[in-house]
Amino acid sequence: MAGHEHEQVTWFHDPAVGLRAIVAIHSTALGPALGGIRFWHYARDDDALTDVLRLSQAMTMKAAVAGLAQGGGKTVVLWDDSHASRPDAFLSSLGRCIDALGGRYLAAEDVGATQRDMDGIAAETAWVTGVDPARGGSGDPSPVTAFGVLAGMRAAYGSHLAGARVVVQGAGHVGACLARLLVDAGARVSISDVDGAKAAAVGVDVLGVDEVLTTECDVLAPCALGGVLTRASVGALRCAVVCGAANNQLADEDAAVALAERGIVYAPDYVVNAGGIINIAHEWAPGGYSSERAYAQTAGIEDTTRSVLTLARVEGITTAAAADELARRRLATEGRAPYRPGEPSVMREALLARRSRFQ
Ligand code: NAD
Repeated sequence: MAGHEHEQVTWFHDPAVGLRAIVAIHSTALGPALGGIRFWHYARDDDALTDVLRLSQAMTMKAAVAGLAQGGGKTVVLWDDSHASRPDAFLSSLGRCIDALGGRYLAAEDVGATQRDMDGIAAETAWVTGVDPARGGSGDPSPVTAFGVLAGMRAAYGSHLAGARVVVQGAGHVGACLARLLVDAGARVSISDVDGAKAAAVGVDVLGVDEVLTTECDVLAPCALGGVLTRASVGALRCAVVCGAANNQLADEDAAVALAERGIVYAPDYVVNAGGIINIAHEWAPGGYSSERAYAQTAGIEDTTRSVLTLARVEGITTAAAADELARRRLATEGRAPYRPGEPSVMREALLARRSRFQ
């Protein structure tokens, strides 16, 4: 499997605080590997390993297509209770694990992580992003992610979203933002969430959880879980375009084929949801983080999505395969030898300077 291509996979265990974590660095060919920390309950250790290998590889592809000078990595922390907060000693230990990788891996927030976690980790290492904006961080990535998904939608559906019927699955951080942006653009928006109160709070038409994938619409925007697109679920879709923020929307490659067979335009998830990592990349931009510059670069997702859709058409391949091909081409032309700890890089200098400024 693809896991064999990873540069480095490290198990960390600190029995004193009950920490068990895996950090996977898939590739540093374009720069240090950025990726979120996921706190999750895994039934088996093997499930955690499979998850971290898959997620870190996706981060490499996402950064490559987004044109960023960074690689792909991920951390999973084997965590029993996703609702419990982490003691300081636990976060310190995790911070020291990340520090031990010498800057080859840069941590960010992912499912289950909070800004408090990132701040706790930052007490032990410079190699962490998403810290408090008052400490030079880029803050909540969700609004920028939603903005990028909207840009992707303009490429996949058309620039004029006024009047378009859009169904959003998931009224969480990204889904709710996206729904509001769509309303501002004049779209007719429906939303659904397993938490009905969250869906209702958005202030648009609310759909039942079971209706989402079969409601007639122009665009379906999955913004909840991965794996929603299978050959069976694609067979029941009544939309022209699928474009949303959720990671790993395709359960398998066959789902991408099924979408193409039905003539449904699939805007690949990691292409359109790259706003979050583009936003983080501005933490090491010259002059420090600027929301305006992060949004301006995220708007480029419209052109990137267009390139992916064009390549798919020209080559007669699925859009998912086209996105992978664009990532591979960039890695082949711009990829270098693996990043070594201590090797100068823009993000290294910026993160070290930030640490000395705020410690
Ligand atoms: P979130 O946890 O805030 O929101 C997810 C929402 O989906 C929750 O409100 C949850 O109740 C709902 N949900 C779960 N199962 C559902 C179902 N079957 N039907 C309807 N709703 C359901 O997460 P988020 O930060 O908004 O991220 C959403 C997705 O986008 C995730 O897959 C995430 O990995 C991906 N993503 C997020 C970002 C970001 O910046 N936050 C960036 C890239 C990708």
